Amino acid sequence: MLDLDRLAQASQQLIEAGRALDAASQVPATGGNFSCRLSDTLMAVTASGCHKGRLTTADVLVSDFAVRLLGTSRKASDEARLHGQLYEDLPEAHAILHTHSRAATVLSLCHVGDTLSLEGFELNKALEGVKSHETPVRLAIFDNTQDIAALALDVRARLQVDANLHGYLIRGHGLYTWASSMTACRRHIEALDFLMGCELELRRQR
Ligand SMILES: [Zn+2]
Repeated sequence: MLDLDRLAQASQQLIEAGRALDAASQVPATGGNFSCRLSDTLMAVTASGCHKGRLTTADVLVSDFAVRLLGTSRKASDEARLHGQLYEDLPEAHAILHTHSRAATVLSLCHVGDTLSLEGFELNKALEGVKSHETPVRLAIFDNTQDIAALALDVRARLQVDANLHGYLIRGHGLYTWASSMTACRRHIEALDFLMGCELELRRQR
């Protein structure tokens, strides 16, 4: 059952997130995509090809988690299934933001291994569940691919063996993070971009 009040609230949250992330240069060109959970089976997700800094309510689509759209002829982002998969696997996730920031793009390419651990930063505490700068913030890293269905399965498999992830990077592409609300998710994406920028700066010094 679609809750129209919840949809209106979610649309506003997605539009505002888009403006803020565009102002922060994290969604260049038409990069990135965002979503909010609407119910146990439905999400509001941004349409394919629209600029995230200039979203309108018409750019917010309603879909189930398998990306079967409701009441629109528009197309969801190819990556919408990555959002649906996260809502299926993480009941606590109520908002997901995906950005194409410079720090995420560069760090995901130059980091060796399948996990990035950000440690020793006070801003680690901006992430849900992190109480100390001594707690590492961990992001999985996946190779970039155009086979989104296969990537969704890889993310699922990783989450089953690694419950303490705060998000994931796709190499040369960008960052996904989720949270229990859009407010918390915006804090996550801001903090993670700052932390990755710090990490890059430190690696330059070494
Ligand atoms: Zn993307």
